[in-house]
Amino acid sequence: MKLLEDRIRKNGVIQEGNVLKVDSFLNHQMDIDLINEIGKEFFRRFSDAGVSKILTIEASGIGIACIAAQYFHVPVVFAKKNKTKNIAGDVFTAKVESFTHGKTYDIMVSRQFLGPKDRILLIDDFLANGKALEGLANIVQESGAFLAGAGIVIEKGFQPGGRLLRERGIRLESLAVVESMDEKAGELIFRQDPWDTL
Ligand code: 5GP
Repeated sequence: MKLLEDRIRKNGVIQEGNVLKVDSFLNHQMDIDLINEIGKEFFRRFSDAGVSKILTIEASGIGIACIAAQYFHVPVVFAKKNKTKNIAGDVFTAKVESFTHGKTYDIMVSRQFLGPKDRILLIDDFLANGKALEGLANIVQESGAFLAGAGIVIEKGFQPGGRLLRERGIRLESLAVVESMDEKAGELIFRQDPWDTL
């Protein structure tokens, strides 16, 4: 998505440890006009998927998922990051290893909100090693819902998450794929998308 790539080039900051900072427009301060175009693009790519619910993970995914949901006209469920050890039995849980914090935490979704009748679209801001998305996909699988697809705003293509999830058969669409980034030169290279018109 050209609009997004241009914005990453303009305002993204490459940090050490393969971290791309986009908190001036995506995941701290949020540019709602841009995120609205992102939501519209997710709908364009998944409008045929019969999505009945969007599932994301707190905190950064929530705002993006909510704006996308206005195009799909479906509810958003967000997985909570659980800090306590004792988790009640009425929830689906998965373990997630955090890329940015280097810790493992539990995520949980109430059993009330996911079930075999649902067709789920996963949405998140970043895809790196794929642990967050894998945790969400495991929860969908456990619930008996159908995993209709996964929409990612920025995939770091030089990390293994995208490949692993596509190999698992997940219909994964990333709006910008960073092929490589060089902290010292401040250089970003995006994967070309032949279908990209925006
Ligand atoms: P994964 O589980 O795919 O390794 O990482 C995904 C999660 O880590 C995302 O939800 C996002 O919050 C965070 N993340 C991974 N890489 C980056 C990055 O380069 N920049 C930022 N801002 N967050 C990242």
